[in-house]
Amino acid sequence: MADAINAIRIGHKRARKAPCLDTAEGMMQTSTSAPVRDTDYDVVLIGGGIMSATLGAMLSQLQLDWSIAAYERLDAVALESSDAWNNAGTGHSALCELNYTPELPDGSIDISKAISINEELQVSKQFWAFLVDNGLIHSPEEFVNSVPHLSFVHGEEGVAFLRARYELLSEHPLFAGMEYAEDPATIAEWAPLMMIDRDPAEPIAMTKADAGTDVNFGSLTRHLVTALQDSGAEVHLRHEVRDLNRRDVGGWNVALKDLAAGEKKTVSARFVFIGSGGGALHLLQRSGIPEGKGLGGFPVGGRFLRCTNPEVIAAHRGKVYGQPAVGAPPMSVPHLDTRVIDGQQDLLFGPFAGFSPKFLKNGSFLDLPRSIRLGNLLPMLSVALRNVGLMLYLIGQLVLTPKGRIKVLQEFIPTARLEDWELVTAGQRVQVITPGTETRGVLQFGTELVHAEDGSVAALLGASPGASTAVPVMINLLHECFPAKVDGWYPQLVKMVPSYGQQLASDPELLADVHTNTAAGLHLDSARVVEQLSA
Ligand SMILES: Cc1cc2nc3c(=O)[nH]c(=O)nc-3n(C[C@H](O)[C@H](O)[C@H](O)COP(=O)(O)OP(=O)(O)OC[C@H]3O[C@@H](n4cnc5c(N)ncnc54)[C@H](O)[C@@H]3O)c2cc1C
Repeated sequence: MADAINAIRIGHKRARKAPCLDTAEGMMQTSTSAPVRDTDYDVVLIGGGIMSATLGAMLSQLQLDWSIAAYERLDAVALESSDAWNNAGTGHSALCELNYTPELPDGSIDISKAISINEELQVSKQFWAFLVDNGLIHSPEEFVNSVPHLSFVHGEEGVAFLRARYELLSEHPLFAGMEYAEDPATIAEWAPLMMIDRDPAEPIAMTKADAGTDVNFGSLTRHLVTALQDSGAEVHLRHEVRDLNRRDVGGWNVALKDLAAGEKKTVSARFVFIGSGGGALHLLQRSGIPEGKGLGGFPVGGRFLRCTNPEVIAAHRGKVYGQPAVGAPPMSVPHLDTRVIDGQQDLLFGPFAGFSPKFLKNGSFLDLPRSIRLGNLLPMLSVALRNVGLMLYLIGQLVLTPKGRIKVLQEFIPTARLEDWELVTAGQRVQVITPGTETRGVLQFGTELVHAEDGSVAALLGASPGASTAVPVMINLLHECFPAKVDGWYPQLVKMVPSYGQQLASDPELLADVHTNTAAGLHLDSARVVEQLSA
């Protein structure tokens, strides 16, 4: 009975059969000798966030005969970082995020990261458009909408930086259609709310890119999970994965607790994806694979100011990214964000960092202490000692008063009033600490894919650029964990992602096609980009 309640099983089911997955060449022999049980799967996905949902949706299109089961500990999917209100919903494409174009010590600007981030979002958008075009998911406006991306700077140095950044990016096809202004009248046209009562003597500059997007990753996750279920996969809610143990015959035993029934059980899988967000580090440690040794996690809470005044919300449309404070980590760049959630426009500002030892919003205060091992203790301590700027920034954030937060917001909206904004808690990020040289750890701000050498288990750690890159990250996983399969999958991969295997950055014609097709499939505004690419 509990199973019937907790397992959402709809549509035609994949016929239950002996698992047939060959994750890596070495595992092909084991599949025939494995016992066939009702709980043997080809693929087990741990966690119901955007990452598991993306991988499941991709695999269900690539390998129709694999049995797939997903396990989520909460009452529904997408309630942690992937939930719309737990992240900023920026379709990261470096159109506005200044931290992706760092200034080098010689004063030059490095745009290489911006190019790869932009290319990655184009890959994600192609897969989403494929799913819509093929009727596998519907109503794209429920999860992605065109919202201009703007960068805003003030002060002579900030203006010089933005101008130089714009000059470099506007030469590049991936950033076609970007506009630049120092003139207050133009900036007031683009972001009127930001110009009311602004000091006219202060030098300011802004760039605008109409190709920007706001993404409701929670809604997208739910669409992907429905597509996964329609393909016959099982999705079990209120099931927490507690342990992972290698099987002698290959693959993994996955120990779970059915939280509703209070029962423990074990299922087995040829391939396990640890897509449990902040919970991934613990399970990676439980797996005991050498690739996970020495890794640590540093939790950083996030909070946003959410606008409660409908007039203020309606007076602004755009995602405006500013410059980070000195010593602040990249994910703390302040931004004012138009959100489109459940068909309604909203306005967020932040993030403000918080501290909690939990690795998940719905996690335990023991998460951080429980993650400490002999192998990661020194790297973690060395990171704490060497990142004094980050620690001071976090302390500064923790002691900010409500008025202090509004003062930060007033750099964007000079007329902002405390009574129009409420503080909301966003998702929990766990920044990965990797072992560097000897005992020195390295604090990573990116997204890290860690997998066993035989490709039978993989985990996704880290948070930035996060959900936007889910599709390219999972394509990378396919290459790393299923090297024997990718050539056979090629024809379907090209249907799913037409630019698969090619660089959009060096092919403006293909890029124009991708923009045209994804805009049509996802109902996005790309007219300006396509016009400039075709000129
Ligand atoms: C404040 C903030 C702002 C962000 N802004 C952006 C942004 O603007 N753009 C962007 O692209 N990305 C952004 N991100 C990053 C993005 O939200 C994450 O990268 C992404 O949601 C991670 O997805 P996930 O599937 O790995 O994890 P999650 O969405 O956290 O999903 C993990 C799931 O696993 C489940 N789980 C955990 N442990 C277990 C277990 N043992 N057994 C079963 N289930 C388990 C959890 O309940 C959860 O449902 C932001 C993140 C934060 C915190």
